[in-house]
Amino acid sequence: MSELRVRFAPSPTGYLHVGGARTALFNWLLAKNRGGTFILRIEDTDVERSTKESVEAILEGMKWLGMDWDEGPFYQSDSFPLYKEYVQKLLDAGKAYKCYCTTDELDAKRALAMEEGRKPKYDGTCRERSGQCDEQPYVVRFRAPQGGVTAFDDLIKGTITFPNEELDDLIIQRTDGTPTYNFCVVIDDASMRITIVIRGDDHVNNTPRQIQLYEALGFPVPQFAHVPMILGADKARLSKRHGATSVIAYRDMGFLPEALNNYLVRLGWSNGDDEIFSREEMISKFDISNVGRSPSVFNTEKLLWLNAHYIKNGDTQRLAGLLLPHLSRRGVTTLGGPDLMAVVKTLQERAQTLEEMAERAVFYYNAPVSYDEAALAKFDKELLQAVCTAVTEKLSSAPLGDIAAIDALFKEVCAENGWKMGQVGQPTRIALSGGTQAPGIGEIVLTLGVEETLRRIQKMKEHLAAK
Ligand code: GLU
Repeated sequence: MSELRVRFAPSPTGYLHVGGARTALFNWLLAKNRGGTFILRIEDTDVERSTKESVEAILEGMKWLGMDWDEGPFYQSDSFPLYKEYVQKLLDAGKAYKCYCTTDELDAKRALAMEEGRKPKYDGTCRERSGQCDEQPYVVRFRAPQGGVTAFDDLIKGTITFPNEELDDLIIQRTDGTPTYNFCVVIDDASMRITIVIRGDDHVNNTPRQIQLYEALGFPVPQFAHVPMILGADKARLSKRHGATSVIAYRDMGFLPEALNNYLVRLGWSNGDDEIFSREEMISKFDISNVGRSPSVFNTEKLLWLNAHYIKNGDTQRLAGLLLPHLSRRGVTTLGGPDLMAVVKTLQERAQTLEEMAERAVFYYNAPVSYDEAALAKFDKELLQAVCTAVTEKLSSAPLGDIAAIDALFKEVCAENGWKMGQVGQPTRIALSGGTQAPGIGEIVLTLGVEETLRRIQKMKEHLAAK
């Protein structure tokens, strides 16, 4: 069996969309699974719409997701001479012809066809025309087979058949001499010796035209796998309207690449009821034939659930590093504050995203400047003051030890004063973090250190006295 060669071929007209990322991932996984080659090709023949920034954004997204490519990135814009060469080959072989019909003529014919209830299709005027000169503007059209059908066995969708009479004589070169999209794709996929074309099913209609070109050029036809679309909750094709669709936006919202990869692989592909896949498991279990035929609905809740899973089980040091940009975006500097790893440890269990974690980490580095007054109002002012005093005394009297030891100190405070844990823990939590959403009290005190803890309790005392 020949070596598996697959490619991801984004058009650089925007960011890396989650749908594109999933197509890339399926290609990448299949290559890894079968020891094949994964190629990155930038389809930038549309010079008007392609930008350098978009190429950068796509590469950035791919790198962030950890999808390394074996060959490329190749740029279609570097291959214009090659495309021209093949257009000429088809012309020489009589498999393509020059078409001198003007836009006005074509428009009139199309209008007439519509009026008469016929399918608008090129009528073949120039198919047999001869004796024209190159000085007149012309396009090059592929001489498509007229009868019969073009069919292929899609690895996901099964057999797909198109009657040839429905397919136009495709323009392969425009009046300005530039090659057209479907033509470039075929030349590239053939010269890159792609064995399976995995792409979004919005390209299904291009496939028969491409197959006809392969055959005309004498190239082996690859296999095709068309991946169903990703939809929003309203079953319309996923777009910005539904929320973020850019891979990098997910990074910036605090998702981990492994969570997004895990989420994307399950969008359309399944392996029994399994939901969580490590990179290695994804690679070893992935098969393109297990991709479902129906479109999948993007579910942010599930992505959040997976992200929380990976944060909870993630390496603390790595998470600390990833958290830093989210903290600096909030103007938080960790210098001189508690150890970031210790902070992350207290938040890993609960945060669904790094953004949420950063939000919850702020109080460790910036002492509260105000308090959740509604939460404070649930307690008597005298009780609050007494709690501050008792906690201060207790924490000053003993070395801190570990979380369990600190929790024990708080229990002692309760026992000695006849208070319930809620009467002590909650006010202390408000004093230390400003609110009630913080981690366990022992964790906070240990992470802040006794000095900072006492300083914050003192501030709370002053706040209460001033009320
Ligand atoms: N450039 C096309 C796109 O971004 C992909 C073409 C293909 O995979 O054949 O939709």
